[in-house]
Amino acid sequence: MGAVVISIDAELGWGFHDYPAEERPTDRIARSRWGWQRLVETLAEFRIPATWAVVGHLFERECNGAHVGHPSPSGWFAHERGDDPMDERYRFAPELIQRLVESDVAHDIGSHTYSHVELDADYATEALARAECDRATEAAAAAGVELDSFVFPRNHVGHRETLAKQGFSCYRGQQPDTGADGPYSRPLRKLARATVVSDPPPLVEPHVDEYGLVNIPASLYLFGFEGRARRLLSATLGDPIVRQARLGIDAAAASDGICHLWLHPNNLTTEVDLARVRAVCKYIDRVREERDLRVETMQTVASRIAPEDVSVV
Ligand SMILES: [Zn+2]
Ligand SMILES: [Zn+2]
Repeated sequence: MGAVVISIDAELGWGFHDYPAEERPTDRIARSRWGWQRLVETLAEFRIPATWAVVGHLFERECNGAHVGHPSPSGWFAHERGDDPMDERYRFAPELIQRLVESDVAHDIGSHTYSHVELDADYATEALARAECDRATEAAAAAGVELDSFVFPRNHVGHRETLAKQGFSCYRGQQPDTGADGPYSRPLRKLARATVVSDPPPLVEPHVDEYGLVNIPASLYLFGFEGRARRLLSATLGDPIVRQARLGIDAAAASDGICHLWLHPNNLTTEVDLARVRAVCKYIDRVREERDLRVETMQTVASRIAPEDVSVV
């Protein structure tokens, strides 16, 4: 039986703290708590559990921005201090995380590092990778949450051996290169594909990597097609991403593969964005009722992948 997995990169202000101030998408950050809450409500309405990969710092209740002893590059936490510091609402979110813990659907609360470090970057030393895992794990444990699933900031995979040693069981790997749209491909190419192509996004197979971690690659980024092209196309053909997601969900229901959808709470800035997510969730719920389809989290996928059943790459 095929499955749908939704994973969510939950970061509020941390997704952009390393950007120069003028390049931060302030509108997305300002709506990030709204988007988080709408996403929790929508998943509850359609009884869809998801993997929430949460930036560890959001578990904190207070912080002076010093992070003494954290082996990050100089100035890494500078946006917590200074003249124009990141607002506390986007630095801390224990009450938003509590909503996930208390939800009637069994969400998987995982990690998106402690402070949104790109683990393949030149600055990402082994010590930094370890510290990011340690601090995220400690902050989560203090809130009674045990982290199991991992999503790499900006999908930049690195230091997997450290993740395995720190007790993580699975991660979201990169979308297979099928010639289809990745999240960063050119708008015109996306427009051309969304207009004429009706093949589904790639279904993925989880597999155990050389460190014993289960890699559950991405199939489709739900907000990889934005701006003017999205508006033009939506006005004539309907939302092209909803169409793509439906094709993926149908394909999963007709096979043993996984359709792995992902997004950020801060992608939801308007009612139109929310309508997209609702349409996808509603369709998942309908297909689950009518056909063979499991709705899973990264954690449940990883726990059912017995090592003897998979090929180690
Ligand atoms: Zn801090
Ligand atoms: Zn992120």
